[in-house]
This record gives sequence, structure tokens and C-alpha cells, in this order.
Amino acid sequence: MFRTHLIFSFFICLLIINSFNIQNKTIFVIIMLIASSLPDIDSYKSKVGRKIKPISFLINLFFRHRGIFHSPFLLILISMVIIIIKIEIAAAFFIGYLSHLVLDSLTPEGVMFFYPFSKKRTKGFIRTGSLWENIFFFILIILCYIQFLLVN
Ligand SMILES: [Zn+2]
Repeated sequence: MFRTHLIFSFFICLLIINSFNIQNKTIFVIIMLIASSLPDIDSYKSKVGRKIKPISFLINLFFRHRGIFHSPFLLILISMVIIIIKIEIAAAFFIGYLSHLVLDSLTPEGVMFFYPFSKKRTKGFIRTGSLWENIFFFILIILCYIQFLLVN
């Protein structure tokens, strides 16, 4: 779910934000959060997809859900382009986007980590919107709170 992706990437953000010499932390957080929800533009039914329906509908015509947009392959390509602009933004984008793929790989639908070279899916047992996801979500909120206290 949208909110789980957000909170998960926010948690990772809290974990790493002081480990690197990040110039603009606000931008870093915002880019990470946006990137963490971006892969689902390949589904016009998703929360992100519904917001930009014409674009996600077009993407959906050519690409299937959890295909190329849910692959590290595309992520690396996009990140390499962003590096030209600014390495810090590329790093935030990469980590945020990757966090989405990691979470999706915990669901039965899974993620094809080596797409387009292999269609093998990495899967888990946490169904989207299930009780397990909600438990996971609340654990993340508690972890965020603890980490926030540690960081500040
Ligand atoms: Zn997804």
C-alpha cells in the first residue's frame, strides 16, 4: 500500500540521513519519498497512478504492472541520468525507489529483480492490505519514532 511504501522509505531515510554528508536534507527526504511511490505509475489503479491517470494509462498500455517499472534495471538507468544532474538526488532517488521494490518483493505477487533478463520473481507472503501489512505498518511507525528520537 501507498502509506507503507512512504513510511518504509521514511524509516530508511532516518537511518541513513546522518551517515552521509548530505547538503540539503529536506530535498533528500522529499526525493526519497516521491521515488518510493513512483514504481506504481505502471498501474492506473494504484494511488499514484490514479493521480496521473492519463500517463499511467498510457504506460499500462505498453508495460504490465510490476514489469519494467518494478525492475532495478530501469532504476539504474534513470539513476545514471540523474547522476549527471546531482549525485545526491540520484542517491535519494535510487534508495527510495529500491525500497519500493524490496517491499513489493514481500508480497505474493513479487518482483522480478533481474527483469528483463530473467522473469524469476522474488516473493513473500504479506498480502497487500492484509492484517500482516497493517502490523508491519505499525511496527514501522514505532521504529520511525524511536529512530527520530535517536537522530535528534
Ligand atoms: Zn509496486
